[in-house]
Amino acid sequence: MLFKVRQPRLLLLTGLLALSFVFTAILAYQAQSAARSHRETADRTLQDYASFAATEFGVYAKQMLSGDVAELLFVPADQGLGAPSRYRNPWSPDTSEQRAPCTGTRVDSGYFFFRLEFRTSDMPLTRGCASEAVRAWVRDTVPKHAWHFLKADYATVFGGIVGRVGDEPRLIGFVVTRNDSGVAVGALGFVTKFKPFAEARFAYVMKNYPLLPPAIVGQTPNDSLLFVYVTDTTAHELYRSKNIFQSPYAYKTTLGGYGGFVVHTVLRPEAAQRLVIGGLPRSRLPLLVGLLALSAGLVLISVQQIRREYELGRLRADFISSISHELRTPLAQVRMFAETLLLGRVRTDEERQRSLRIIDQEARRLTHLVENVLQFSRSERQLTRLSLESTEIAGQVSEAIEAFAPIAQARRVTVQADLISGIVAPVDRSALRQTMLNLLDNAVKYGPASQTVAVGMAAEHGVVRITVDDQGPGIALAERERIWTPFYRLERDANSAVAGSGIGLAVVRELVTQHGGRVWAERAKSGGSRFVVEFPGATRPTSGSDALPASAPENVNT
Ligand code: ADP
Repeated sequence: MLFKVRQPRLLLLTGLLALSFVFTAILAYQAQSAARSHRETADRTLQDYASFAATEFGVYAKQMLSGDVAELLFVPADQGLGAPSRYRNPWSPDTSEQRAPCTGTRVDSGYFFFRLEFRTSDMPLTRGCASEAVRAWVRDTVPKHAWHFLKADYATVFGGIVGRVGDEPRLIGFVVTRNDSGVAVGALGFVTKFKPFAEARFAYVMKNYPLLPPAIVGQTPNDSLLFVYVTDTTAHELYRSKNIFQSPYAYKTTLGGYGGFVVHTVLRPEAAQRLVIGGLPRSRLPLLVGLLALSAGLVLISVQQIRREYELGRLRADFISSISHELRTPLAQVRMFAETLLLGRVRTDEERQRSLRIIDQEARRLTHLVENVLQFSRSERQLTRLSLESTEIAGQVSEAIEAFAPIAQARRVTVQADLISGIVAPVDRSALRQTMLNLLDNAVKYGPASQTVAVGMAAEHGVVRITVDDQGPGIALAERERIWTPFYRLERDANSAVAGSGIGLAVVRELVTQHGGRVWAERAKSGGSRFVVEFPGATRPTSGSDALPASAPENVNT
């Protein structure tokens, strides 16, 4: 716990503030979980787009492959001899192409047409060559598949088969041939390397087909929104689109046919912003945590502030009671001795003198007290105004000591002053007097009766220093700073009979710092307290030079 809470109202206010913080925390939590679920929905939507694109790509790609296999098989049959060479019947033995011999590097040309007779396994080739392994594969594979199709009783039968011969995936496109009775007797077909064949079709799909909903992406080309990567089922690459993107919005789908292939799609991270209506929600967590920390800080500051207000209220109440107490004692004394005089109860001149002296002393104390209160209230309202005058310090200090003499005498205290005359500094005379009176009053109040209070003076480097030493209990190191706080009194004095309100030293510090000077407490050589006051701007005009000596040569005793 940062501090002890005693007052019930303070407890209530602290509770209310804590409650408001809890509500803020709940709100922040709600906002965060709403943002999280928004984000999750957006993530799911994007994931769906990636899967949609993969499926679309697969469907279009298969259509393209089948369409082009069919085109290669059927267009030549329709076009006849007048067709461009690409379509001229590739199976006709009349094809008068200049065929290079199937030797050397042309043993396996990769692309060729064949005419297979099931019964004899006879298989003449046109437009290319094939190794024995490739031929064997074709002879083996085509009847098996044809038989499979025939069983299914397709009216028009054509097929695309992908298989590996060696390391190379190859595609067989074929159509079954029948005799006059409709019996399947053979096949016409072609063989080509699958990767370049598929790659060209996949690139076409990527370029020309909508893979994401056009209503959302408009005319934006696929490859600026998507990365598509296709492999066969053994992870051999068949196609990759131009721009590679990486994002968590990726999908992978495996499609059957043509040996099976796997389509991977990855959405471009920047595209995510366009695909989600209203944009991708950004994480509010840092902002919320920041706001929460801020509101926690504000609550703490408020509690501190309220506590300080209460503390101040309490101190003010204490102050009023102690000031009244301080005023009552001298007033009672004044009244008592004035009455004694008025009623003619004094028998001797000496007694009369004593009564008058006490009245004078108590009136001075009252004046001093009231001046302190006034000065304190001025400083509280920041109305302290000084009128700085070039002042001979020793003279002014002596005057203050003289004015204080009756109070010192009452406790049989000797004030011993060791001052340097001729030092001049710009000070407010009444402020200097009040400072001295406060320090002397404390020295007398907190020191023993009959002690000697020593007032010293030093001047060097443009600073004049006045010290007040007493033979009292001194002030512990830990307390030497706190005693300057308004209303603060040492524990031992707060509960003792020594009257005090705790503003004397606060007034001293205010007055001295307003001069640009310093003030502090330390341990006196005598073992008691030493209060040190420093004023800047000290000079010694009478010595003919403004420079001050390092030590003072001329001392006077008062
Ligand atoms: P007050 O004397 O009215 O209590 P001050 O502000 O003058 O208030 O002093 C604050 C506290 O510092 C005093 O209550 C006392 O406990 C302590 N104090 C001040 N001067 C002395 C001193 N000369 N010796 C010991 N304690 C001192």
